[in-house]
Amino acid sequence: MSNPTLADWQQRAVALKIEGRAFIDGRYVDPVSGQRRPTRNPATGKALVEVASCGPEDADLAVEAARTAFASGAWSRMHPAKRKEVLLRWADQIEAHWEELALLESLDCGKPISCTMDDDGGDVHSSIRTMRWTAEAIDKMFGEVIPSADRTLGLVTRVPVGVVVAITPWNYPLATTAWKLAPALGAGNSVILKPASNTPLSAIRIAGLAKEAGLPDGVLNVLPGSGAVLGEHLGLHDGVDCITFTGSTPIGKQLMVYSGQSNLKRIYNELGGKSAYIVFPDADLERAAARQCAAIFFNTGQTCTAGSRLVVHEDIHDRFVAMLTDEARNWMPGDPLDPRTLVGPCIDRAQFDSVDQYVQIGLEEGATLAFGGRRVEVTEGGHYYHPTILTDVTNGMRVAQEEIFGPVLAVIRFRTAEEAIAIANDSIYALAGAVWTRDLRTAHFVADRVVTGNMNVNCYFACDNQITMPFGGMKQSGNGRDKSMHAFDDYTELKSTFFDLS
Ligand code: NAP
Repeated sequence: MSNPTLADWQQRAVALKIEGRAFIDGRYVDPVSGQRRPTRNPATGKALVEVASCGPEDADLAVEAARTAFASGAWSRMHPAKRKEVLLRWADQIEAHWEELALLESLDCGKPISCTMDDDGGDVHSSIRTMRWTAEAIDKMFGEVIPSADRTLGLVTRVPVGVVVAITPWNYPLATTAWKLAPALGAGNSVILKPASNTPLSAIRIAGLAKEAGLPDGVLNVLPGSGAVLGEHLGLHDGVDCITFTGSTPIGKQLMVYSGQSNLKRIYNELGGKSAYIVFPDADLERAAARQCAAIFFNTGQTCTAGSRLVVHEDIHDRFVAMLTDEARNWMPGDPLDPRTLVGPCIDRAQFDSVDQYVQIGLEEGATLAFGGRRVEVTEGGHYYHPTILTDVTNGMRVAQEEIFGPVLAVIRFRTAEEAIAIANDSIYALAGAVWTRDLRTAHFVADRVVTGNMNVNCYFACDNQITMPFGGMKQSGNGRDKSMHAFDDYTELKSTFFDLS
């Protein structure tokens, strides 16, 4: 359909057939307990479908299926070039269903259809790109032959870790799933995917497409269910070799506890952030203001890399804040199914309340409300928050230290580059950051000294659409790396094999 309207999308949403069962050992199944819970459309609060609520019994079945598949070698020992072909066919299948998946993701997360459909950086196309890029890399990974004595041979090879559990969040469900599944499966592992309870639908859907693409049974299992029950059981399971997690810092810490309490399974965490966006007076202020608004308001601020702390030079503070408030008017929320909408609702009422509470906390701490700070009425049953700017923030305030995960920008002043760096680094998080200046020396000085996994110079999210650079955090933002060839490090072990051939 070319240029579908809001009414077109609404019609298609009503006609959509949605799968809510778990996917275990190559089949869609009901959970052993028979329990289901609804997943809701954040724009309306209405149930989309009843989804399997898997528990420990289902987890045990999935681990057994994954382990059996791994041990059989049907996938783990398949020629890498053949694994590549299967993953490429899977990407083709996803592409063949991309409009359906974009709509599903929009309905399940409240994301604007303009974002999920975007054929550049949108959720579905970026996931397809991740899968194709990673698939192409599978048969180009080489091991090492070490320098050794005559009639000996030392090999260092990468071997799959075994059974990998992937636990994903609700803010970019399909994209984070692709970041994890492509390299984990590509390396030959079996995978159990536990999507966020709020947004399980795209993960459930693509599991069936993987089977159609030729992925052997048991290699990919999708278990929707509660993090507290199912997630804990998987975290403590001795049959799981590795957990790759994207979510909040407290749960990432908890997973490391589970690991220590069980079999020391590898834990790779992609966690929260409170990224500093540093603007010097000589920067291209117009571009910097436009990107700052995108950095904090895109996806309703529900982005781990959100540029949520603006650290701006005092000489341009007032002018820059005025530019931001102008620009922020372009980021008013709307109906996610309206193709003109850039920003949707908060994921649910609890998230909305938490965002609003943080704004109140900021005001009590002495911040000034420069813009927004209130509910916006859009669709009945949805919880929409106005793009919000808090000025007079100091870095010790809770609104500067804690991840709000909503469209709320905290503005902090600085005088010297050293002071800006100190503010940026005074955080438990270290996920992303930016510096804006035309002075190359200042740009390098600041970018080099800000402790973070992903630094931007005169841009933000610019490389996010590329799969070629690793993505991940330092400090309490995590330890894993998604994307790029480095993603394979999380899903392989290095094995040394020495031959005495005398
Ligand atoms: P969350 O509450 O930590 O949940 C993430 C996942 O963990 C969900 O699937 C959740 O299941 C599961 N979970 C909850 N308790 C668990 C437990 N005890 N054991 C095992 N699994 C458990 O995070 P969220 O609210 O979904 O997502 C927002 C957070 O993710 C933010 O902090 C954001 O910064 C972070 N994030 C980071 C990145 C990155 O790449 N660094 C990317 C996106 C998001 P339920 O849904 O059933 O609770």
